Amino acid sequence: MRERLFWILKDYGIDERIAKAFLEVPREEFLMKHYSLSHVYEDVVLVSYEDGEVFSTSSQPSLMAMFMEWVELGEGMKVLEIGGGTGYNAAVMSRIVGENGFVVTVEYFEKVCKIARENVRRLGIDSVAVVCGDGYYGVPDFAPYDVIFVTVGVDEIPEHWFRQLKDEGRVIVPINMKFSGRQPAFLFVKKGNHLEGNYKLETRFIEAGGNLGNLLERNKKLLKEFPFRKTIRVPRLQMFVELVDLLTRRLTRMNGTFYYAGPEGTVEFSGGEMRIYGDTPEIESLLSQWKSCDYRSFEHLTLHVGYNALSRISCTI
Ligand code: SAH
Repeated sequence: MRERLFWILKDYGIDERIAKAFLEVPREEFLMKHYSLSHVYEDVVLVSYEDGEVFSTSSQPSLMAMFMEWVELGEGMKVLEIGGGTGYNAAVMSRIVGENGFVVTVEYFEKVCKIARENVRRLGIDSVAVVCGDGYYGVPDFAPYDVIFVTVGVDEIPEHWFRQLKDEGRVIVPINMKFSGRQPAFLFVKKGNHLEGNYKLETRFIEAGGNLGNLLERNKKLLKEFPFRKTIRVPRLQMFVELVDLLTRRLTRMNGTFYYAGPEGTVEFSGGEMRIYGDTPEIESLLSQWKSCDYRSFEHLTLHVGYNALSRISCTI
């Protein structure tokens, strides 16, 4: 049965080395519900655990395999996985990084996390560490990482991850877009003070809990009063709000209206316009960069997300 999955992945054009890792790990051992073996090795998302209170899913194998290719997962790498679930994907990745590599996976729900621990222990996989907690903080104890591999929809890429990633390290991450509800996945590479990245594809992961899923709420406290300065009309305002969301991590919402909560100013987005209060140089420079890229959608832009540095956009050729 496992061979069937191997051939499905090969048909997708997945690298042999990665497809083989899926041959080496028994997926049924990570499913706490019963499925027929033929279903287990289909290329589908399966519910791995549910008890009416919490649930977890084992992601679609071909999507995981593509993520592994995009981050160029290889021998000897140290990987941080966010959203460990019952541990299947971490176990597969441990086959690829090999004896000289290491996989650290973080799972938010204690019950699911304990199951993941028990699964990797039972199968004798000693190159996976399962950490119980909120993935928002990363896992500093094992940092720095070559790769951060996110298998849950998150509101932002927290500074903790950025700090725990090696320079030139890669992040694959599905991001919950607050305006449209979409969940595009992006591939980023760390370059100095920025994560430089591009859109890859649409996804539908479970949305994260904890601090990875409450950005709008947390940012409310950054909103302060500033004097009104001006109104700017913006074409495709919704798309601009999404760029602000991705690039500043300072988006918030009050009474159904979106705001950018900057350190020296606030922007209110409504009715095709931005109302600017105080100073918001970050937003104004993003707007002019976006204009010079012909107001393109984020799928056709390169994002440079700054950490203690200004974020930028460049036009993908
Ligand atoms: N990689 C897993 C798939 C997990 S599904 C596998 O191979 O099976 C996503 C998981 O992310 C869920 O188990 C969910 O509980 C977990 N999660 C949600 N919010 C999280 C957070 N803030 N930090 C870490 N994990 C989180």
